[in-house]
Amino acid sequence: MKLLVTGGAGYIGSVVARQLLDAGHEVTVLDSLDRGHRAAVPEGAEFVQAELLDAPAVDAALAGGFDGVLHFAALALVAESVANPERYWRGNVVASLNLLDAMRTHGVKRLVFSSTCAVYGEPAEVPIHEEVPTAPVNAYGQSKLAVDRMIADECRAHGLGAVSLRYFNVAGASGACGEHHEPETHLIPLVLQAAMGTREQVSIFGTDYPTPDGTAIRDYIHIEDLGRAHALALDGAREGEHRIFNLGNGTGFSVREVIETAREVTGREIRAVEEARRPGDPPQLVAASQRIRDELGWTPEKPDLATIVGDAWAWHQAHPHGYAS
Ligand code: UDP
Repeated sequence: MKLLVTGGAGYIGSVVARQLLDAGHEVTVLDSLDRGHRAAVPEGAEFVQAELLDAPAVDAALAGGFDGVLHFAALALVAESVANPERYWRGNVVASLNLLDAMRTHGVKRLVFSSTCAVYGEPAEVPIHEEVPTAPVNAYGQSKLAVDRMIADECRAHGLGAVSLRYFNVAGASGACGEHHEPETHLIPLVLQAAMGTREQVSIFGTDYPTPDGTAIRDYIHIEDLGRAHALALDGAREGEHRIFNLGNGTGFSVREVIETAREVTGREIRAVEEARRPGDPPQLVAASQRIRDELGWTPEKPDLATIVGDAWAWHQAHPHGYAS
């Protein structure tokens, strides 16, 4: 298929673009390079530098015609979204509307969208299945949910076939592609920077959560397992339908468990300091992943936390300054 990957210079988009190329698809990456890295765009992909907020540029990029779009480009930092919600409504919602407009204009019939477990807010129970009511607690989750709703309307009104994958916490690395954000806010890369010595210590945000060890619990999924779900989703898109799948392993690990696993995997000392909760962070987010397993045939190949941290560690050691090296 001829596919457009928005955000294909980012952490997840670049890995999925590589997987799609390896599967024989023709791939064009569209990225503003605002937060992505040119070096992350896989060899063999066409590259278009454009902002999704620039509607004429998006229209021009889509004019060549595509069989499908995988839409990763987004702002994705909870704390930033709490401080500057307008940036998220514009950068995620308006930008996605421009993309849907261009897709409709140019007859693109399939969409896979990077949604998030943040749309569920602070659910009373885990694991979280797809019927749990959506109730985002920050502008990031609000903006992603708004896009999900926009997509549902587009499917009903104009026959688009779309799949939203609601990611839990993606981590790990895949070959030359790894996680490098500026600034870095994600737990696993920060822990590994502390292990490498490029960071003095890592913070534990919140030790008073209602969890067994008092720290927050997340469902960490390997980037390669998460990536493979996208090709399945593309095949599973059905005209006029918006299908939603949670995407995680179904097992939760606390912040302390992640740090302990990183100590074991790296054999290094990792200094951790206890701090207050980070605003907007729910206590527990763990996926019920039965629907994607049953309906799309997805199964994780690397569900083990030590493997996820180990692959990330290998990448960080090979790229101590991320894509800047
Ligand atoms: N976290 C932490 N210290 C850090 C960064 C994150 O304790 O320096 C915690 C955060 O509060 C959350 C978990 O680690 O409970 C995962 O956070 P991350 O930013 O990696 O992903 P998020 O769940 O926010 O998408």
